[in-house]
Amino acid sequence: MNLQKSIEFYKEAIQYLPAGVNSPVRAFYQVGGNPIYFIKGNGCYLEDVDGNMYIDFCNSWGPLIHGHRHPEVIFAIQEQIQKTLTLGTPHPFEVELAKMIIHKVSKDVPGIEMIRFVNSGTEAVMSAIRLARGHTNRNKIVKFEGCYHGHFDSLLVKAGSGLATFGHPSSAGIPEALAKETVVLPLDDELLVEKTFKKFGDDIAGVIIEPVPANNGLLLQRKEYLEFLRKITTQYGSLLIFDEIISGFRISFSGASGYYNIQPDLITYGKIIGGGMPVGAFAGKREILSKISPLGPVYQAGTLSGNPIAMAAGIAQLRLLTDEVYQDLEEKGKYLEENIIKIFHKKSLNWKIIRIASIFWIYMDEEKPPRRGDQIRKESMNLYARFFHHSLSKGIYLAPSGYEVGFLSVPMGKKEIDHFLEAVDSFHV
Ligand SMILES: *Cc1c(COP(=O)(O)O)cnc(C)c1O
Repeated sequence: MNLQKSIEFYKEAIQYLPAGVNSPVRAFYQVGGNPIYFIKGNGCYLEDVDGNMYIDFCNSWGPLIHGHRHPEVIFAIQEQIQKTLTLGTPHPFEVELAKMIIHKVSKDVPGIEMIRFVNSGTEAVMSAIRLARGHTNRNKIVKFEGCYHGHFDSLLVKAGSGLATFGHPSSAGIPEALAKETVVLPLDDELLVEKTFKKFGDDIAGVIIEPVPANNGLLLQRKEYLEFLRKITTQYGSLLIFDEIISGFRISFSGASGYYNIQPDLITYGKIIGGGMPVGAFAGKREILSKISPLGPVYQAGTLSGNPIAMAAGIAQLRLLTDEVYQDLEEKGKYLEENIIKIFHKKSLNWKIIRIASIFWIYMDEEKPPRRGDQIRKESMNLYARFFHHSLSKGIYLAPSGYEVGFLSVPMGKKEIDHFLEAVDSFHV
């Protein structure tokens, strides 16, 4: 595979951009090798600067459920750019997208009554945390190891030594004093959550979790565990925040909340919601969202929030998400899962494919599927790095890190999935 131009771009990039990138995983540090410079996406295919074609299982990290450049999304954007790029005023599309989401999601998750749009997932989480604190007049946030919530200070925090203690910054540049307001717990452990609430319950503003943790492998949780979090937060008057930036509109239209039939107080959205444009949002009960400025005392604003082009793309993409689409993706997922297992068996490997709807994660390990971040064995990541490059050479683009999940998209057919299966089959350990 000729990567000459990618190599040249990267050489130039590292002079001007830290590590040559604008988001760390893109630099390929976790798999080694030269990052690839892509220029075009079409359906489920990607084209790089050297003219190589790849089947895209990364999907821009999740937003592209309909693949690249779905004609209706492109049409909506083209129509809109004839009128304006940004107005900084209210716009009918904000109302339309809000209405569509609230109507459809609240059928399954009745507490979702109002929404505010922002420009990224991180911004959505940051605002939801501030809102939780402002609404409850409390300071502490509980989060879980193995969940990612963007790069907001309060959540770039890791567990301290000893369980159920205050967190420490997991990035330089975050004050210890702020990290202390975050309690970091392992997933899948009711007892530690109980202990934490017994100790700090009257100062816990909210518990934030990815109900389908998909940023550190795919750590599917027990439904009873999620229900337990619902119960204990209610009991102590804390808010339950579901970070559905990946799972929202992906697991089902109403996300993991609908799938597990659990009503969080706040949901954060990103990725799919913008149809490929930079959009995030947080949604929840009217009573809570009414605390946001200018209705209430919790300040939150954005020059480009609710941008008409981004809203147009979001409306077009979400409108395409019918029950049939989810059914079709489920069937493709099932096909992938069953056939990968067959290949693993044939090779006498007890490796795992973990899957929910169109999200999958290949765990190259003989151990049982992990439910906690610390159960993932590092050895599997070295194998993944080799598998990544093997797949790449076969024209398959996976996320350049073994901790990242893969996504199926609507335009993917049996042909593309079979091509991926062949790559799994021809991979020698
Ligand atoms: C991607 C992601 C974020 C951050 O969103 P950005 O748009 O990258 O800021 C937050 N939470 C989860 C669960 C995510 O997957």
